[in-house]
Amino acid sequence: MARTVTLIPGDGIGPEVTGSAKEVIAALGVDIEWEIAEAGESVMEKEGTPLPETVLESIRRNKVALKGPLTTPVGTGFRSVNVALRKELDLYANIRPALSLPGLDLPYKDIDILLFRENTEDLYAGVEHMVGKHAAESIKIITREGTERICRMAFEYSRDQGRRHVTVVHKANIMKYTDGLFREVFYEVAKDYENDFEEIDERIVDNMAMQLVMKPNLYDVLVCPNLYGDILSDLCAGLTGGLGVAPGANIGEDIALFEPVHGSAPKYAGQNRANPLATLLSAKNMLYYLGYNEAADRMQKAINAALKNPETRTKDLGGSAGTREFTRAIVANLG
Ligand code: NAD
Repeated sequence: MARTVTLIPGDGIGPEVTGSAKEVIAALGVDIEWEIAEAGESVMEKEGTPLPETVLESIRRNKVALKGPLTTPVGTGFRSVNVALRKELDLYANIRPALSLPGLDLPYKDIDILLFRENTEDLYAGVEHMVGKHAAESIKIITREGTERICRMAFEYSRDQGRRHVTVVHKANIMKYTDGLFREVFYEVAKDYENDFEEIDERIVDNMAMQLVMKPNLYDVLVCPNLYGDILSDLCAGLTGGLGVAPGANIGEDIALFEPVHGSAPKYAGQNRANPLATLLSAKNMLYYLGYNEAADRMQKAINAALKNPETRTKDLGGSAGTREFTRAIVANLG
């Protein structure tokens, strides 16, 4: 029986990159039926909201979704649909792997970092306001419950993957209450996993940024509050080939939403320029989540083969192919 999955095509380059994922999954022969749910800028004009209730209903019903990027206006306009989705569905963990891929000419090889970003609290809770006309305040929220569940998921998941080293990232030297609580709860949870890892340690976020640029191979699993996780995961994406290759997953109690880390890159929309790899790798991780392990392995092999040939790589990776040509090459490599 087909497994129904919600598909949010998204804004800008979203329909092209999610279209690529649909094509590759169809070629793999995985029996997935896509339930299309439109959200974002285009829907705002038609329905007066960028996140219609039907989208949330579809995800709640199917429990699994693949999502293209959604545009958020800067400064004014509607609030981020991405943040709203994570909050409404309580997708408290954002998992962002950074893995070196074959064929790319980059300063570092063999990077394999798994970053866990807390997804619902911190400065992203959206509690901000003007104080008079010339000042603004934003409230940073860190709770014991919110921290405990992201830390526990990070340890459980990393242990199941056979990882050896977990690092908590914070700025508790300055933000003694908020980041102090995040650090404290991390070490409390860590007590249950002491025997499962060779190293459990901490880095202050500014030092972490420098270390990741200088010696990324020293790091394995990072656990971060929301804002630092957002920034450091883009840094890690940069180490492995840029936003075009960075996949992500938002996980809650029983719902999982897979999406690329990158945004809607409006300047590339409709031009066959976007690299669909971040979405393809997100879709591959979705296949693992759904238990289609053999198909996911085949997909990764076909991607690796397409990456080794500059003619089938996209322009952001030094190749000459467009979204469609890269997708076709992967499909051809499936054999
Ligand atoms: P962006 O990720 O859309 O683009 C930044 C740059 O990265 C682009 O100019 C492009 O050069 C490159 N890039 C990104 N994805 C690429 C791809 N697949 N292939 C090739 N090159 C790629 O970030 P931005 O310009 O800061 O944001 C644009 C919009 O996307 C904003 O409205 C922002 O709010 C939104 N956004 C959405 C998400 C999401 O849906 N999860 C994430 C980030 C940004």
